Amino acid sequence: MTLFTCANCWQLLTGNLKKARPSRDTDKKSGHRIAPPRMARGTYAISHDAGFFILHPDDVPGTAPHPDHGRRNGCCGLDGQDGPNLVCAACDADVATKQSDCWTQNLVALDAAAVDRGAESPA
Ligand SMILES: [Zn+2]
Ligand SMILES: [Zn+2]
Repeated sequence: MTLFTCANCWQLLTGNLKKARPSRDTDKKSGHRIAPPRMARGTYAISHDAGFFILHPDDVPGTAPHPDHGRRNGCCGLDGQDGPNLVCAACDADVATKQSDCWTQNLVALDAAAVDRGAESPA
């Protein structure tokens, strides 16, 4: 099992997660419908090329919405196109980008450079 913490202050950002494959990106449908989450709850995936860990949108209890409203644009949810929109709840560092809009994917992408990945025993 894996836990993610803030690289700046060690605040716990997630619960125990296990590595899994994301579900396939669904085709965008017409209408303002939010896609199903890419990840099941309690799981994460690594996006090596992009430098992100991909999580279910509800699996980041240690984060808070970004205080800058300009980061939190969207139609039905958050489009995540304006930079990180989730901060560490303890130190306000930018840690993740949530996409939950009707025309985007539905996920949270933890910035690999802003978080630490720790394993909980037994590994
Ligand atoms: Zn919409
Ligand atoms: Zn922090």
